[in-house]
Amino acid sequence: MNDLRIGHGFDVHRFTDEQTAGVQKLGGVDVPVERTLLAHSDGDVVLHAIMDAVLGALALGDIGTHFPDTDPHWSGADSTVLLRQVWQQAKERGYGLVNLDVTVVAQTPKLQPYRSAMTDHLAAVLGAPTDSINVKATTTEKLGYIGRREGIATHAVVLLGRLR
Ligand SMILES: [Zn+2]
Repeated sequence: MNDLRIGHGFDVHRFTDEQTAGVQKLGGVDVPVERTLLAHSDGDVVLHAIMDAVLGALALGDIGTHFPDTDPHWSGADSTVLLRQVWQQAKERGYGLVNLDVTVVAQTPKLQPYRSAMTDHLAAVLGAPTDSINVKATTTEKLGYIGRREGIATHAVVLLGRLR
């Protein structure tokens, strides 16, 4: 039974200390924020968790080994480009998406208005129907580092199936 592979990903990025009001990529979508996320790449914590889930399903380690933050090549990198590279690894091994479930944990910004755009973006990148992808957003009821608006976390679970 090697037809199905499950993977889990988790990532956290902290907000910058200064007010850096602008646009933050989340799930590949431009989301207006009061402070952007600190990161070597574009800080798209949603796509990072998804990449780690896919790499986990494929038993290929994590994004830190594939795109080391010590490598200037990935400085400011567009995470959608990185996700395409990770997804190529799945396709080369004959896997397609069964389904993807994502939970973004953020006290701020409010993500509800961007969920469907994120789903559409992920469907396009992963070559999958939108009804195989679910993006949820939740807060921590103002508890802990997320609740103190210090950063954003994301959990992702992916199921891959062999296409041939
Ligand atoms: Zn990350």
